[in-house]
Amino acid sequence: MNRVISKYCFYLPVTVLKGEMVLPYMPSYRKFQSRTPDEIKTLQLERLKNIVKYAYENSIFYKREFDAFGVVPSDIKKLDDIKKIPLISKEDLVNSMADISVQETNFLNSRKTTGGSTGQAVTLFKNPSALARERAATWRSYEWAGVTMGSPQARFWGVPLETLDSIKYKLIDVAANRKRYSAFNINACELMHHYNSIVKFKPAYIYGYVSFIDEFSGFLSQNNLTLPSSIKSVITTSEVLTDISRENIEKSTGLKVYNEYGCGEVGSIAHECEHGSMHIMDDNLLLEIDENGFNKGEGEIIVTDFFNRATPLIRYRLGDFARLSTECCACGRGLRVIEKIHGRAYDLISDSSGNKIHPEYIMYIFESVKEKFNCIQQFQFIQIDKQTYKIKVVKKNNYIGTVVEPYITELLTRKVSPHSQIIFEGVDAIEREKSGKLRLIKSELSADSVK
Ligand SMILES: [Zn+2]
Repeated sequence: MNRVISKYCFYLPVTVLKGEMVLPYMPSYRKFQSRTPDEIKTLQLERLKNIVKYAYENSIFYKREFDAFGVVPSDIKKLDDIKKIPLISKEDLVNSMADISVQETNFLNSRKTTGGSTGQAVTLFKNPSALARERAATWRSYEWAGVTMGSPQARFWGVPLETLDSIKYKLIDVAANRKRYSAFNINACELMHHYNSIVKFKPAYIYGYVSFIDEFSGFLSQNNLTLPSSIKSVITTSEVLTDISRENIEKSTGLKVYNEYGCGEVGSIAHECEHGSMHIMDDNLLLEIDENGFNKGEGEIIVTDFFNRATPLIRYRLGDFARLSTECCACGRGLRVIEKIHGRAYDLISDSSGNKIHPEYIMYIFESVKEKFNCIQQFQFIQIDKQTYKIKVVKKNNYIGTVVEPYITELLTRKVSPHSQIIFEGVDAIEREKSGKLRLIKSELSADSVK
């Protein structure tokens, strides 16, 4: 569909009907990115004060928590004062949703269920203007990848299994000018079908799960296939983008990859610019790094959503890990930068004493195996219990278990007890989660036993 027709006849009318006025926000979001870091901090402080005051006055949960910690909204005089406020977790959201949410009668509030594939699912509410701001920040970032609102999208994603949901998503996809390619049943026949459809559809960009786009890219280069010239970029999301995947996608498609990081609870959190920096959506949220138990400058990501007044989220622990960059980006944008994000696609691993092991360490082991032996097609690391780890590997022909397995074990036991049980299992493929996501590092321990 033509981009202008899609934008003005479908996308915008649908969002307006839902009360989400995205378009009027766009100029201010474009302007925000060129502000200086100090100007951004000033605006953030104002937004932080507003949401803290609102939550204290309207949410039963926050009033109770603030009172218990002896904090009042007027205590927030600078951004750092946010540390006076207690953190909240996904468990808090699940257990206290009714008290956290503000009992507004706005029928336009949207329900958003998130996190079902990687843990406990939670349903929260979003008011239309908060959603409109999320979308504005997202479109602003897609502009960095040469994509504008309404541009046709080839979506490499999960497809709902229920018929009713499937019809609903088909309608949404038409309104959003996108075609969905299913992350389930990936095989040569399906990938060829996707390729032919993309050639006909002529999208402006490819969007979706890293692992799926990676597979598709490999298929393209194996079969010497080229993508239509209408495609300007690839936007990857939802899974961790490793250097290996990025290299493979860029080489096979001839397109630049822009990574996106976000979550259902707050929407867009960071996007990659033309210079490869992950800029934080400082306009919509305050991102902090909780260094507790980690090296300086890195730790768990904590976010405060400035605009969600239906389910206010203040100091919400995301369960993801990252490092804040101190460098300014060459693109000149004043938005802060995070690096080395380890999303929930990577679970936290622990040793038998309960000490946390950064998922980056596991990735490091397998990157090192690749460099040294290049004998593993794909892997999955699973923590079964406190001292049992299973490593599933899709072996290449040159895999020699007696060489590579002791090597992995040696690297792993630098972090976990040498008495741990490490089980290697050869598999034909790594199974995807119900959502279609691939989880490379996963823990079957409950969250509580890890902390
Ligand atoms: Zn930049």
